[in-house]
Amino acid sequence: MRAISHFVNGQALEGQSGRFGDVFNPNTGEVQARAPLATEAELDAAVQAAAAAQVGWAATNPQRRARVMFEFKRLVERDMNALAEILSSEHGKVIADSKGDIQRGLEVIEFACGIPHVLKGEYTEGAGPGIDVYSMRQPLGVCAGITPFNFPAMIPMWMFGIAIAVGNSFILKPSEKDPTVPVKLAELMMEAGAPAGVLNVVHGDKTAVDAILTHPLIRAVSFVGSSDIAHYVYQTGAAHGKRVQAMGGAKNHGIVMPDADLDQVVKDLSGAAFGSAGERCMALPVVVPVGRKTGDELRERMVAEIETLKVGISTDPAAHYGPVVGAAHRAKIADYIQLGVAEGAELVVDGRDFALQGFENGFFIGPSLFDGVTKGMKTYQEEIFGPVLQIVRAESFEEALSLPSEHQYGNGVAIFTRNGRAAREFASRVNVGMVGINVPIPVPVAYHTFGGWKRSAFGDTNQHGVEGVKFYTKVKTITARWPEGDHEGDAFVIPTMK
Ligand code: NAD
Repeated sequence: MRAISHFVNGQALEGQSGRFGDVFNPNTGEVQARAPLATEAELDAAVQAAAAAQVGWAATNPQRRARVMFEFKRLVERDMNALAEILSSEHGKVIADSKGDIQRGLEVIEFACGIPHVLKGEYTEGAGPGIDVYSMRQPLGVCAGITPFNFPAMIPMWMFGIAIAVGNSFILKPSEKDPTVPVKLAELMMEAGAPAGVLNVVHGDKTAVDAILTHPLIRAVSFVGSSDIAHYVYQTGAAHGKRVQAMGGAKNHGIVMPDADLDQVVKDLSGAAFGSAGERCMALPVVVPVGRKTGDELRERMVAEIETLKVGISTDPAAHYGPVVGAAHRAKIADYIQLGVAEGAELVVDGRDFALQGFENGFFIGPSLFDGVTKGMKTYQEEIFGPVLQIVRAESFEEALSLPSEHQYGNGVAIFTRNGRAAREFASRVNVGMVGINVPIPVPVAYHTFGGWKRSAFGDTNQHGVEGVKFYTKVKTITARWPEGDHEGDAFVIPTMK
C-alpha cells in the first residue's frame, strides 16, 4: 500500500508514531494509502526547521519572494491534470471540479504575486517639526494552517500563499483524508525556489493540532473545518497567545423572489446544492421560495432537474458529482434524511438507495429533495454536508430575510430576483458574511476576502485579500525626528502635536 510521508525541511519524512489514517478511494471504497499521524515531537521538529528557514526568507526582498510565487503558479499549471486526478481519487469530486479547486487556490497565488505592492507601508511627512511617521508590515515568524478534506488544494493555498509571500514560514496540517495533493504543492514550492523549511507538511489528527495550538514558536494559526473544532481551535490557540482565524460550518440559503428567472435559478440551485456531492461550505442546501406559487413551481422544476443529474465515478466526464468522502459521512447524511422524515418534512426525492453498477462499495449517494422544512427542525438547523436540498417556504421578503439572518451559521447567502431594490436591501440587512445577488456560490475573488459570520467563523480576520495579509503580518510604526537646533519642550510630558 502507498505510504504517504510528512514533508519537512525540504524532505519526505516517514512517520514515527506508528499511527496512521486510512486514505480511501471513495469510488471503490478501498483503502489506497495511509497517512502517518504525527507526534508532538515530530511537529516540534518541523517547527524548528520552519523557524530556522524563516529568518533568511523574511530577509529575501519581496520581489524575489513574489518570483517564487510566479514560478509556483507556472508549475501547478504544468501539473494541473496530474494533481486533479490525485485530488479526485482521494476526495471523490469529479475531475473538472478538482481543477476548479486547484484554480481557485491559484488565484490566491496570483494575488500573492503582487505582494510587494500590498506590503508597502504608510508614510506621513512632517507630522511635526522635523518629524516623519511611517509604518511597515513585518512577518510574524512561523505560522500554521489546519485544513479540511473538502478543498485539499484551494484552502491550503489560501493560507500558505499569503503567509509565505509576506515572509513567514509555514506548517500545513492538511486533512488526513486526502493528504497527497498538499504534499505535492509543498514539493512544487521547493521546485519553484522556496528554501527548504519555508513550507512544511505535517499530517495528523488531534495530537498534531494540539501540538500546533500550544507550540510557543507558532505565532498564528489559520483553521478551516467544522464549527465545534473551529471553536476549540480558536479558544485554545488564543489561550496560548496566538492569532487565530477559525472558519467553521455553514448552512447557506438561497432566497427565490417571485420575479426571479426560475430557469436560471433551477440550474444554479442544482449545481450549488448537489455539486461536489454537497460537500462545500458554500453549497446552497436550503432554498427559500417566497410565495406559494413560486414554491410550487420551483419544486416541480427542481424535481425534473434532479432527474437529469448523473452521479458517477470521479473520472466520468459526464458525471455531475461523484461519491462523498467516506462511508461514515455517507451514513451520517442518510441519518439526517431519516431524521428529516421523522421530523415531518416531506421527502420528495430520496437519494439513499442509489447504487452505481460496478462500484457498489463506493461511497455514493443520490440527490435528495425535501419540501415543508421548517425552522424548528434539527435537519434545518444543522449542517448536513451532503447532496440534500431543503425547501423552506416563506410568505414574504421579511420572513425570507429573517431565516438566514437568525440561523446559527452565517457563511454565505444568495438572493435571486430581477428587482435591484429588493436585492440591495437584502444585501444590506442580511446577517451573513458573504452575499450573492443572482450568484449561487458567492465565494469572493482572491483580492477580496473570504469569511462568514456567527458560528461560521471565529476570530477577527478573514482569509486572503488584504485581510489575509493583515492576519499574517504585524504593523510597526516608526516616529522619526531629525531636529534642527535645540529641542524645546518638557521631556516628562507626553508629546503632542501643536
Ligand atoms: P473537520 O472539522 O472534521 O476537520 C478539519 C481539520 O481539523 C482537519 O485537518 C482534521 O484533521 C482536524 N481535526 C479533526 N478532528 C479534530 C479534533 N478533534 N481536534 C482537533 N483537530 C481535529 O472538517 P472536515 O470534515 O475535514 O471538513 C468539513 C467541514 O469544514 C464542514 O463543516 C465545512 O462546512 C467546513 N468548511 C468550512 C469552510 C469555511 O470557509 N467556512 C470551508 C471548507 C469547509
